[in-house]
Amino acid sequence: MPQNRTILHVDLDAFFASIEQRDHPHLRGLPVIIGGKPDQRGVVSTCSYEARRFGVRSAMPLTEAYRRCPHGVFLPGDMAKYRAASRQVFAIFHRFTPAVEPISIDEAFLDLTGCTGLFGDPETIARKIKELIVKEVGITASAGIAHNKFLAKIASDLQKPDGLVWIKPEQVEEVLHPLPIERLWGVGPKTAAKLNNLGIRTIGDLARFDQQLLARALGAVTAQQLHQLANGIDQRPVLTQDEIKSMGHEHTFAEDTADLDQVLAVLLRLSEKVGRRLRREKLQGRTVALKLRYHDFTTLTRHASLREATSLDQDIYQASRKLLLKVYNGQPIRLIGVSVQNLSRGAIRQLSFLDDATHAKQKKMAQAMDQIKNRYGENSITYASGIDLISNRPDNEP
Ligand SMILES: [Mg+2]
Repeated sequence: MPQNRTILHVDLDAFFASIEQRDHPHLRGLPVIIGGKPDQRGVVSTCSYEARRFGVRSAMPLTEAYRRCPHGVFLPGDMAKYRAASRQVFAIFHRFTPAVEPISIDEAFLDLTGCTGLFGDPETIARKIKELIVKEVGITASAGIAHNKFLAKIASDLQKPDGLVWIKPEQVEEVLHPLPIERLWGVGPKTAAKLNNLGIRTIGDLARFDQQLLARALGAVTAQQLHQLANGIDQRPVLTQDEIKSMGHEHTFAEDTADLDQVLAVLLRLSEKVGRRLRREKLQGRTVALKLRYHDFTTLTRHASLREATSLDQDIYQASRKLLLKVYNGQPIRLIGVSVQNLSRGAIRQLSFLDDATHAKQKKMAQAMDQIKNRYGENSITYASGIDLISNRPDNEP
């Protein structure tokens, strides 16, 4: 992943509450709390900045919000209305780039790398998007610009509401290092407590901390991920909605082949690539799809449903191998592809009681290989039979 990307993170300000204040002018300037009546079970979904001044926060129990802000205006919220507004906002994003990754109803990443020539520099684009949201949707948004997703998200939060912050590469340390470690992706209360025990309170503390000691406390994979983030390194690509629905790789053979061993070796390598991307994006999928194109361009796709969602290379390989062996007709193959669909967010699944030591081993192996690849590059390690068959042959659709 090149480091010269330009990523924009846009986050609507107090979204649900802002929509209510937009539609009901008498609510402007008042603490508006969306989620339900103060005596109801349940939590605050959004609150206006006026309510935040009283210590009300998202995800706080409504009863607690009432205790802190008894004069607040408590509303149940209107999801249909919010969804309509969200669609308008996303339509604005798509006027600038197709590379839009929705994070939630009010938040998205945009990869501006390819579109600055057309619309101006990143700051101009961010300003235009913010203006269009005010003009067409009637609410404000905060924007963050940086060379990766993590920093762009940090940036959008620095001057909320209605903010616009660009973190340049030379400013990373200055901006990032004073922030508390809880601001790192993947640091929840448990990890934060462990880090505090090591004397690590800020992102800067973590960035300077000895990596081996950190690995001993958190495990090698987490330690490395956090250490990279703390140093402002994040290689995750912006994934559009379509890419999130499925993730796959294909390979066109330099010469059509009927050598099944060769085809399986490629399939293993492709499964490995797909698994790695899934794990990197913290995605897992329940459907494995195999695409097969014969020498005469006959193309077929077959799907297999898994018992549980996975991001493990071996699960993907075994499922796609089964599909291949079932459909293969002995004709020379031109292209093979494997993808995982039906994706959901989440780390590598917890091992259930049905999972045996084999799965634990596979999970460990995948993590170890990811780590080596993170350090030494994509081609540094592979499974024994996954020989690389480099091909630049274009695959033209029939
Ligand atoms: Mg928001």
